[in-house]
Amino acid sequence: MEYPTFNQEYEILRQLGEGDTSKVYLCRHIQYPNVHVALKILKRTFLERDENSIRSVEQEIQVLYGLDHSNIIKMHGYGTEGVIKKPSGTVITKIVYIILEYVPGGLFFDLCQTAGGMGEQGGRYFMEQLKDVLVYLSAKRVAHRDLKLENIMVDDNLQLKIADFGFATYKKIDKLKSYRGTKTYMPPEIKEYKTYDGLKADMFSVGVILFIIVQGIFPFSEAKPDEYFYKLLIDGELETYWQKTGAQSLSAEFKDLISKMLSYDPAKRPTVEELVNHPWMKTPLDYKKARELINDALNDDKYDSITT
Ligand code: ADP
Repeated sequence: MEYPTFNQEYEILRQLGEGDTSKVYLCRHIQYPNVHVALKILKRTFLERDENSIRSVEQEIQVLYGLDHSNIIKMHGYGTEGVIKKPSGTVITKIVYIILEYVPGGLFFDLCQTAGGMGEQGGRYFMEQLKDVLVYLSAKRVAHRDLKLENIMVDDNLQLKIADFGFATYKKIDKLKSYRGTKTYMPPEIKEYKTYDGLKADMFSVGVILFIIVQGIFPFSEAKPDEYFYKLLIDGELETYWQKTGAQSLSAEFKDLISKMLSYDPAKRPTVEELVNHPWMKTPLDYKKARELINDALNDDKYDSITT
């Protein structure tokens, strides 16, 4: 079978996915066929929408260029003059693209949906990795601003890879003003158009993510002071909050960490150092057991569809 080629360097094997801004393809290096990459092709409709679109692509490239971490998708290249040659002979030019590390696996969102609540061990397992990312980003002074299950990929070895740095920034990250993020993961200060600290905003979003990993549901529909569940947290009605979210049996350390990460006041959220040293992060983690547990939760699904 003949495949389309990209820049005469790669064969485009198949589409991996599609987002608002781009289509992503699996590519194989022509000279080194063991090398696979993900080719992210920006949609023209998106690039032509307004100036902000182009700026967000440039921002993503600039930020990714400076990052090198095993839990963050690596960027191998980018350009605005990409050329696709189809087997029919058709040639498409001037493609705006980013070449990324290929993650064999899928979206963390799908894993969480299939597994359902993975409990505190599942939470500890993935939080070890998310914590490393927060420590790394804070050292690099980068705020992601759109951390959510849909922007995290997970490979076949249960290793998380943070993706989609389109909203990320490394400029004056403690005094940000732009309204960025996704409703359900966004901290109140961004919703209220306040000047905010990007690292504290990411800490909040990771709090939402951790809650979902452990409980299999969102902690609230959005962080508004008048939202029923979030109001309970803000008002310190923690007993009622944990009861209403079906989480009474979770450990006191976990509840303490979550209620701090989801604080209305960003100053009350843990710094990355405080997160690293929080008692829940120090509770023992049996990697092997946690992986078994997660894999069991994933496989359970197979039996759900069996009826007798
Ligand atoms: P957008 O920025 O347009 O929202 P995404 O970066 O979210 O696009 O990518 C769209 C989809 O492509 C993802 O949901 C995922 O399924 C797939 N994808 C993106 N990057 C990779 C990658 N590095 N490896 C494998 N699949 C990827």
